[in-house]
Amino acid sequence: MKSILIKNPLLTITMNSEYDNFESGWVLIKGNKIDSVGTGKHPDADMIIDAKGMVLLPGLVNTHHHMFQTLTRNLPGVQDAPLFPWLEALYEVWGELTEEAVFVSAQVAMAELLLSGCTTTSDHLYLFPAAASKHLIDKEIDAALEIGIRFHPTRGSMSLGRSTGGLPPDSVIQTEEEIIDDSIRLIEKYHDPEPLSMLRVALAPCSPFSVTADLMKKSRELADKYHVRLHTHLAESVDEEKYCLDNFGQRPLDFAESLGWLGDDVWFAHGIHLNDKEIEKLSATKTGISHCATSNMRLGSGIAPVAKMLDAGVPLSIGVDGSASNDSSNMLNELRQSMLLHRLKDDRWLSAAEVLRMGTLGGAEILGRKNIGMIKPGAAADVILIDLSDIGYAGAKSDPLASIIFCTGAQRVSWSIINGKVIVENGELKGLNLKEISVRADEISRDMISRSNKIM
Ligand SMILES: [Zn+2]
Repeated sequence: MKSILIKNPLLTITMNSEYDNFESGWVLIKGNKIDSVGTGKHPDADMIIDAKGMVLLPGLVNTHHHMFQTLTRNLPGVQDAPLFPWLEALYEVWGELTEEAVFVSAQVAMAELLLSGCTTTSDHLYLFPAAASKHLIDKEIDAALEIGIRFHPTRGSMSLGRSTGGLPPDSVIQTEEEIIDDSIRLIEKYHDPEPLSMLRVALAPCSPFSVTADLMKKSRELADKYHVRLHTHLAESVDEEKYCLDNFGQRPLDFAESLGWLGDDVWFAHGIHLNDKEIEKLSATKTGISHCATSNMRLGSGIAPVAKMLDAGVPLSIGVDGSASNDSSNMLNELRQSMLLHRLKDDRWLSAAEVLRMGTLGGAEILGRKNIGMIKPGAAADVILIDLSDIGYAGAKSDPLASIIFCTGAQRVSWSIINGKVIVENGELKGLNLKEISVRADEISRDMISRSNKIM
């Protein structure tokens, strides 16, 4: 069994049950688990990483993304649009998705995530154009397996087209039967419930305004049958709230509750427009929220009541959200944005340590993982090293933990180890030619935009 010793970091942040942080020390990895953690004399190992001047911490966990959107970043025409008009314009371009577009966009997003400290990510692919292959999620799974990231793909879906009162055009929706059949296929083919699983599938009808209530109920039944988790967008915008009140006579969370969509196996992206009673309900049912600060600012959606939710005991994590509303998959940047945004509104500000907890343990809890997001014996060997010798951290060593959230530095890791394998070594992502991927992504992006006949 291969062993890796990480020795002498400036600070080790464990996120263990005591939230121990200690200077210097060492961490020994054996196979795909953390074997032991200590200070003083260190054991020997097959590979030794000298982490002098670096901060060692658990890999970050991203709980909301739409990787295909890396192909439509900062499109002119929707750069300054809020959610509904932004979606209506982009559906046309996303309607040109192909298998290759999904594969390459996943490589782009995963590379950005890995280089910025993410070791476990979710993705929400919800758009299956009528003309495209029906096996698009398989392509992002291929990309994850190749690159070595721990992956929680969610089977997204849209079943309510414009002709029946939904927001998306009919050309990008599927029937309930197609969606359920493919959900079963993906779970049976890929979902691995084992404790150190590298791949777990969840079910994710897109939003109250793009799927039928029936599909939400059927997804709940399927989740119960296969013991997989449920995910969707909720309480993201005032437009969505109005849509739910007009169409269902209920606010978004009440609508979700009426469909069986509250519980510790459910997590919602955003959770902005929630009142005190709804926050209590989330806390009582341990329903999770993935906070997406950058996207919420970009689309002017609002400021989620994060401090209030944390204080009420709502499970909270961090998501970069799709790259058409963040334009970046940088997790370190997202942690920083999450800390800063709430200082504009809330009396109770978020600290660097709270944000880091949301970005590690918080994400692990929301994805139902008991052994990631922490450094302790027996946990998964998912760790990152951030080198504080970067110029952006000069003068910041009085509090190394805070420095990785407050300062921008390179917002890039020097090392990333996932499942006991070195994925980023000395700042370089192993095994992928990022220049080639970037060129191909640009070509595919141009093609999709021109095929959609949209002059954005
Ligand atoms: Zn989203």
